[in-house]
Amino acid sequence: MPNEKAIKQVEDDLNNNPSKRNNLLEDHNYQQIIQQNMNLIFVIRQVDGRFYFSLLAGKLKEKLGLSDNLLGKDADLSKLDLDLKALFKAKLLETLTGQDIAFRHTYQQCYLYSMLSPIIENGKVIEIVGTSIDITAFEKAEQEIEYLRTYDRLTNLPNREKLLKDLEISIENEQINTPKALIMCDLDRLKNINDTLGQYAGDQVITLIADRLLEITPRGCKIYRFGGDEFIIVVDQTIEDLSPFAEEILHSIRQPFVLSKNDFYMTGTIGISYLNESGAQAEDYINRASVAVHYGKVNGGNRVFEYNNQMSEKYNELLLLESDIRKAFQFNEFTLSYQPKVDVHTNEIVGVEALIRWEHGKKGKIPPSTFIPIAEEIGMIEQIGEWVLREACNQFVKWRSSGLKPVMVAVNVSAVELQQAEFLIRVKNIIKETGMDPNYLEIEITENSIMQNTEECIATMNQLRDMGISLSIDDFGTGYSSMGYLQKFPINYLKIDQSFIKELFNQSGSAEIIKAMIQLGHTFGLKVVAEGVEGEQILSFIQHQDCDYYQGYFYSKPVEPEIIKEKLLEYS
Ligand code: C2E
Ligand code: CA
Ligand code: CA
Repeated sequence: MPNEKAIKQVEDDLNNNPSKRNNLLEDHNYQQIIQQNMNLIFVIRQVDGRFYFSLLAGKLKEKLGLSDNLLGKDADLSKLDLDLKALFKAKLLETLTGQDIAFRHTYQQCYLYSMLSPIIENGKVIEIVGTSIDITAFEKAEQEIEYLRTYDRLTNLPNREKLLKDLEISIENEQINTPKALIMCDLDRLKNINDTLGQYAGDQVITLIADRLLEITPRGCKIYRFGGDEFIIVVDQTIEDLSPFAEEILHSIRQPFVLSKNDFYMTGTIGISYLNESGAQAEDYINRASVAVHYGKVNGGNRVFEYNNQMSEKYNELLLLESDIRKAFQFNEFTLSYQPKVDVHTNEIVGVEALIRWEHGKKGKIPPSTFIPIAEEIGMIEQIGEWVLREACNQFVKWRSSGLKPVMVAVNVSAVELQQAEFLIRVKNIIKETGMDPNYLEIEITENSIMQNTEECIATMNQLRDMGISLSIDDFGTGYSSMGYLQKFPINYLKIDQSFIKELFNQSGSAEIIKAMIQLGHTFGLKVVAEGVEGEQILSFIQHQDCDYYQGYFYSKPVEPEIIKEKLLEYS
């Protein structure tokens, strides 16, 4: 039993000398506490300007892959990675001045919080005692929170807040790759998809478009989801000419996509602001891009608009018009002019198109191309559309009851109106209320408006046809749609856009395009109308091509109802 004997001896010894026992206990606890500690505990000494560990302990030591061969005079901190070495050295030098230092850093994929305290003897720092705590979980949680705050969850793109922060940093630092411009891209009428197909469909569109943008955006540019249907791309100096890229964005947005088994078409409007002014803030540049987009939208959208100062002024004017449109009804400032639609072969008036006119109390005449898009943006188009339809129907009834031979009356309906559920009810009510004969009513819809929400549009159009109303595709040829819809839609007339007619003798190829359009219309059993016919030569060309009807200054500008009455009397 030598062991028992030895233990007994130690016990006796300790009993006789209690202070020895305390020392040993302390030693024992100290060792254990240090070894069992969750953190990394270390002591560093400096000899001849070189630092080395004189103690390395704690559970974190192993996790960080630190071994005892870092201990001792011969092993300086060169085994730590380079960045950390530099950081550590700076912090150690600070500690040598007698201060406690704490700092965050990473090592071996761990986030650490380290504290260094000097041990001072006779006014000199002889050692530095340090502790490192593993804060990886905490740091990851913080990063997660930061991500949620600065990234959009639907598209995983950085958001508006991140954009502001990133821009501020690069404007401040004037880095070599400072951003050159902001491209703000806004989807046109996404709200219609949300309203008719639901939020989920709208979300799908946004995700799809985000993917497309990511695909075409060159390296060095960064995409942000700025808001509901707005994206911003920060373009750097490596992109020399922005136009082709901006056009490519619009092109990618126009590609059809399938939602609930139906094809959908989308367009976008782009506003560009160049970062070319010293002293301007991130917010200024964003605002400029946004002004360019909104200016663009009220000018028909679906194009690229580069910001300039006049745009800002014009945009402010437009905003003022907004309240004026509301007042225009109060002051009876709207009227309708009518432009005859004429048979190409007999020169007989077969119909009239109602076109709205606004005589502003102070600003004089404001063309519909200026205020209709604003009215669409601010939700006034329903009221305007309702007024136009009622006024045109009343006019028809007046003409007829004064004994005139009845002709078709066409009204223009905006895409926004057409996609509202109440539209059909409104049309029905007005027909009833005014005593209009629906067989003489024609509704003109632009090509782009029906392409957005195809299935819904077909349903609405079918119901209009059932009521006896005729339908025209307006501005034909300007849309970005497939010709396939001509077969699908219940339409009666194709109105070839003025731009083709005007270019007939200026641009080669225009004649061929017009010919093809007329043929196409006839293939689908439609009557074809040429718009904007200003001269005899053009008339004779379309006569040759067997076009059915035409409108244009050559026959008559849009005129007041009294003049139409005189013209109609000639035929009655
Ligand atoms: P739109 O439906 O394509 O109407 C034809 C436009 O071309 C009219 O301009 C007409 O005055 C003009 N025009 C007709 N013949 C000629 C010609 O020979 N030469 C030239 N240079 N122009 C000609 P307006 O009245 O300024 O209307 C512009 C657009 O505003 C219309 O284009 C239509 O999209 C819209 N608009 C007009 N009235 C209404 C309305 O009551 N409701 C809606 N939603 N839109 C309307
Ligand atoms: Ca029209
Ligand atoms: Ca037109």
